[in-house]
Amino acid sequence: MICSSPVDSFLYKNRQIYVKRDDLISVSDSNGDSMIGLSGNKVRKLQYFLETNLPNITKVISYGGTQSNMMLALSALAQLKGWSFDYYCHKISQMANNSINSNLALARANGMQTIEVVGEQATDANIFNHSSDTLIIAQGGAEETSRLGMQQLADELRQFAKNNNWQEMGVFVPSGTGTTALYLQEFLSEFTVYTTNCVGSADYLRMQWQKLKPLGKLPIIFPNTKFRFATPNPQLWQMYERIHQHSNIEFDLVYDPVGWHVLDANLDMIAMPLVYLHCGGTSGNGSMQARYQKL
Ligand SMILES: *Cc1c(COP(=O)(O)O)cnc(C)c1O
Repeated sequence: MICSSPVDSFLYKNRQIYVKRDDLISVSDSNGDSMIGLSGNKVRKLQYFLETNLPNITKVISYGGTQSNMMLALSALAQLKGWSFDYYCHKISQMANNSINSNLALARANGMQTIEVVGEQATDANIFNHSSDTLIIAQGGAEETSRLGMQQLADELRQFAKNNNWQEMGVFVPSGTGTTALYLQEFLSEFTVYTTNCVGSADYLRMQWQKLKPLGKLPIIFPNTKFRFATPNPQLWQMYERIHQHSNIEFDLVYDPVGWHVLDANLDMIAMPLVYLHCGGTSGNGSMQARYQKL
């Protein structure tokens, strides 16, 4: 059972902005120690696997980038379940291999094996043999099983709106695969979910949604046309610092600076009470910060 995450708030441009602190969600092992990487929206996405007994599974396979927060979350899930974990990725640079405290290093410490492949292989789920003891998770956890955790998140947000007597509520979340925004909107149909595309274009995000079999209305996209995924940019650093000064909350350095930048530019478009969904991911801040220092 995942406990409800708290909500904080801070003043920004003369308005109260609420922050749903999913970054504070934690999952503990049998010793009661919290598992690094099992936090944020990755716990919501993996809630189904955390709460379901799958006695026939011995192994999990996934693929994607080696800074991925989902990669780290899956390594922790695998360790918790006693599964082995193979992660397919592009060639890993010497610098990434040697980095400490990165998501890659943390995931390897959880027992993850990396398998370096070339070309499309690293992003195509169809290449993996579907033996019955193996669970295959699409890149970033773009899976329909993510619905379960988003339903609970929607229930928590609905309760928060009710406690505040809000008839309307806007929830903003920056998108990677868009799974969080899409399924949250599905279960929060009386409210409005806003998002921006941090990976690829707004059209790419809409394409991702179609693959996830949307039921009901889609989130509203404020398009990001400026920032490339996980690419350091002085404007993003400025935004990261500004939000930190106002909120005293540590946000992640990959999605949130883009999220806040786009939200800031569109803030006047949202008159209703606004909740920013903090999806966690701060475990990767060390390696992103190192890249920012080279700017
Ligand atoms: C994974 C992640 C996202 C994006 O979630 P999607 O469901 O893939 O859109 C946003 N913020 C953080 C911090 C993340 O780790």
